[in-house]
Amino acid sequence: MSTTAAYDAEKVWDSDLRALQTQVPVDVVRMAEAFGLKVWIKEMPENVAGMIKKDNKHGGPAGYSIVVNKAQPRVRQRFTVAHEIAHFLLHRDRIGDGLEDDALLRSGLSTMEEVQANKLAAKILMPFHLLRREMNAGIRTVPELARRFEVSQQAMSIRLGLPE
Ligand SMILES: [Zn+2]
Repeated sequence: MSTTAAYDAEKVWDSDLRALQTQVPVDVVRMAEAFGLKVWIKEMPENVAGMIKKDNKHGGPAGYSIVVNKAQPRVRQRFTVAHEIAHFLLHRDRIGDGLEDDALLRSGLSTMEEVQANKLAAKILMPFHLLRREMNAGIRTVPELARRFEVSQQAMSIRLGLPE
């Protein structure tokens, strides 16, 4: 895919995403459902964060399920759901029967594709328009913002461009 095509496609999701980013914390399960994906929380091996898989029987209308590891903390589960939504939006042709992400959110796709998925996941969970809104309301520290957005402090620091 050319850079221009990818850019144009992302413009389209921007408005789709924005319509679903109306409240803090962003409801990632509702967002997944809006894209036709069904989210499940299940027991998984401890080195697995989650997966997206072709699931015509139990998946949403798009025919895919996202499964996240029940044992992981909520902030990790939320980031994993956003990361799998990102794989669906960015790399649907690469999912095949399924992509399983390990604890470091690596699925076997290229490092660049995982970075793309992490960047879009951060944008899903911490859109700048909502960050601005919270900051204008006086919530300005990384720990407070992380708590409000239900993300890890590390994820919030990266999103704000701060040294970790
Ligand atoms: Zn991944």
